[in-house]
Amino acid sequence: MTVVPQRVAMLQHRFATALPELALPSVAAAVPDPRVVVLNGPLAAELGLDPDRLRSPEGVGLLTGTVVPEGAMPVAQAYAGHQFGGFAQLGDGRALLMGEVEDTDGRLRDLHLKGSGRTRFARGGDGLAALGPMLREYVVSEAMHALGIATTRSLAVVATGRTVRREEGLPGAVLARIASSHLRVGTVQLARATGDLDLLRRVVDHAIERHHPEVAGDVNPCLAFYSAVVAAQARLIAQWMLVGFVHGVMNTDNMTLSGETIDYGPCAFLDVFDPTTVFSSIDQGGRYAYANQPAAGEWNLARLAEALLPLIDEDQDRAIELATEALGSFRVEYDAAWSAGMLAKLGVAADASAADRLFSPLLDLLRESHVDHSSFWRRLATAARGDAEPVRGMFVDLAGFDAWLDQWRAFGPDADAMDQVNPLHIPRNHLVEEALEAATTGDLAPLERLLEAVRSPFRQVVGLERYAEPPPAGTGRYRTFCGT
Ligand code: AMP
Ligand code: MG
Repeated sequence: MTVVPQRVAMLQHRFATALPELALPSVAAAVPDPRVVVLNGPLAAELGLDPDRLRSPEGVGLLTGTVVPEGAMPVAQAYAGHQFGGFAQLGDGRALLMGEVEDTDGRLRDLHLKGSGRTRFARGGDGLAALGPMLREYVVSEAMHALGIATTRSLAVVATGRTVRREEGLPGAVLARIASSHLRVGTVQLARATGDLDLLRRVVDHAIERHHPEVAGDVNPCLAFYSAVVAAQARLIAQWMLVGFVHGVMNTDNMTLSGETIDYGPCAFLDVFDPTTVFSSIDQGGRYAYANQPAAGEWNLARLAEALLPLIDEDQDRAIELATEALGSFRVEYDAAWSAGMLAKLGVAADASAADRLFSPLLDLLRESHVDHSSFWRRLATAARGDAEPVRGMFVDLAGFDAWLDQWRAFGPDADAMDQVNPLHIPRNHLVEEALEAATTGDLAPLERLLEAVRSPFRQVVGLERYAEPPPAGTGRYRTFCGT
């Protein structure tokens, strides 16, 4: 009898086969001394992967790209992107699509590695990633998932034993990322830029098959696909706004066709409510500031429409007309999602007058008093239960806030419903920093506690009370760094 060794994972190569022009076969860099820093057991189970096998030498090889399962075809994906407004041809410079895995629900999911070595798209980059930023992506994407916000997931972070040269020498790592696909607005833009309409059509067909199969039978599948992406992105960005998430680098290469949040670089959550908040050190003009995110998303979707025009209608004037109308639904969808979310945060039933009376006066008050965004909403629920003092203590303009409270109370807010949508635990900047610093020097305990907190966004965790608190007074505006 011959024993056939069972593979850690069965990988497909649908993207590479359907779109070979955009798939550059690539090889991962050697990993001198791999060490699994975090492994996502529940996600592994969802994928039908055995966490113990993933920790074996073969599994760690898969998680770093140094062992390629038979039949797999790791590729760097080519794409383009408007980066801070300027168009560029890009591609995975330090990443590999290992292939697709069918999860236990029969859905196809990408296994993708970040920090796996240089590819032909690396330009001047070293192809590597430092441990801190890969752990940041792990923590923040787990938090987003727990918050119910569409996102790529993190399967593991493996330290490589290699030093990565940044401003200082840092421990290197590879992040294994799971996504419903890595198709981006920039993927379509690159296909269009080649002038090859057959390639453009295959990109759209592939995206429809993976994300919006319901539009395949539409009279104008490309237009219906575009509308589906517009709707998904409008809902996504509304959710970011409601929870105080600042993506930081909303270039078109960092915007998915699936509607999942992707590429956690310089992202962070608001501490105090300030619409002008920018965390990223490279975003000098504030293009991707908190309050600009809906407009940035809409701008990116206009670029997607331009790339799709030849497939929307043969008559380009007609195509522009149809695409403009479809893009017009962004604001409608965004406003509907945001308003519904705000009412839920306020614990108030749908009512047009509630929106008019409550939303914008509240946002003004929050901004003027520099109120901590996340704890405000939980304290407001406490006010709905009868104790308004904790939330009143957050405002400088007390008379103004008291007047607002009276208006809000008139709508009969439901405190328990509020606590189900307003997170107690978000990955607060000072806690993320603390956890990453400790992990970089080998102490994983703070990272594990932070993960425990953010995986339970709405429920108090005994022993983790500090994880629900605003940053200590005197903590300055947080800075994040991109391209690390
Ligand atoms: P981002 O905006 O961080 O998603 O990255 C923009 C582009 O730069 C992507 O195509 C990345 O693959 C590439 N890139 C970022 N960092 C590196 C690096 N250290 N080495 C090679 N390419 C990189
Ligand atoms: Mg990117």
